Amino acid sequence: ADSALYHAKEQGHSILPYNASFNSMTPKRIALLSDLHRGIWENQLRLVYQPKVDIQSQTLVGFEALLRWQHPALGNVKPDEFIPLAESSNFIRPLTSWVLDAAFTQLRRWRDKGFNVTLAVNLSVRNLHDQGLVESIIQSMANYELPPSCLELELTETVIMSDPKLVQEVLNGLHDHGIKMSIDDFGTGYSSLVYLKRLPVSTLKVDYSFVVNMLSDEQDEIIVRSTINLAHNLGLKVIAEGVENLETLKRLGELNCDQAQGFYIGHPLEESAIEGWLNENQQW
Ligand code: C2E
Ligand code: CA
Ligand code: CA
Ligand code: CA
Repeated sequence: ADSALYHAKEQGHSILPYNASFNSMTPKRIALLSDLHRGIWENQLRLVYQPKVDIQSQTLVGFEALLRWQHPALGNVKPDEFIPLAESSNFIRPLTSWVLDAAFTQLRRWRDKGFNVTLAVNLSVRNLHDQGLVESIIQSMANYELPPSCLELELTETVIMSDPKLVQEVLNGLHDHGIKMSIDDFGTGYSSLVYLKRLPVSTLKVDYSFVVNMLSDEQDEIIVRSTINLAHNLGLKVIAEGVENLETLKRLGELNCDQAQGFYIGHPLEESAIEGWLNENQQW
């Protein structure tokens, strides 16, 4: 680890305070994490917003906030590259605080314009293990004068199964305050149906890996169909992600899927592109 730190320093990157997780990280990853640390303060992060629509009524239900990092030398770094890095260190805490704050700022701006939508934010395992997460979200939303019902939190099955008892407590706390929750990437983890039944979640999000090929892969379609039935039988809504064409959207409608998200409906949009998207997609 010493030589790794030395190496990262030699390359001219600022160094984070020593963290035990560095032991298992390559110099490149340490350098990237260090850059991310700086990137937060230097305004290199932003949110983009991907629309979620109701399939039957063809109306907009809200957006999902997705994090983007414009690195000064590397350009656009994908969240799949830096979120796991932040998750493996404590940096996911300040990163998530940044995301929530940016999301609330955006929601406030929208509501001031009379645009009342819900915004979904992704949470990581560690966030749920944070004492005070619920309090800080509630406090923050109150400061922005936002009703808790305009926030939705997306949690993966991995998050839930990391410590089902604790997670259930946290989710109950959020639910009691009126915050909505959904289970992301459903079908890729190993969630026990017992917890699914107990948790105060309102929506299952079918993972895009099942949706993207569901027209050509019979097994994928079976999985999507079964998930929709399971969710409905448990009183939950279903959203399919990864909807890339009209045929898939139509099929999902036939299968009674409630909502859809994906490139066919809308790519993740810059804030400035949202009004244009809304004008072009009147029926959503
Ligand atoms: P996710 O939550 O499953 O987000 C969906 C990802 O699929 C996004 O990638 C989105 O751009 C992409 N996508 C949307 N529609 C389609 C489609 O029709 N086809 C295909 N092939 N892909 C589609 P993105 O933005 O690169 O995010 C990747 C992952 O990074 C997210 O997966 C989420 O797990 C994580 N992430 C993003 N932002 C945050 C954040 O603020 N906090 C945390 N903890 N994780 C985040
Ligand atoms: Ca998500
Ligand atoms: Ca997902
Ligand atoms: Ca995913």
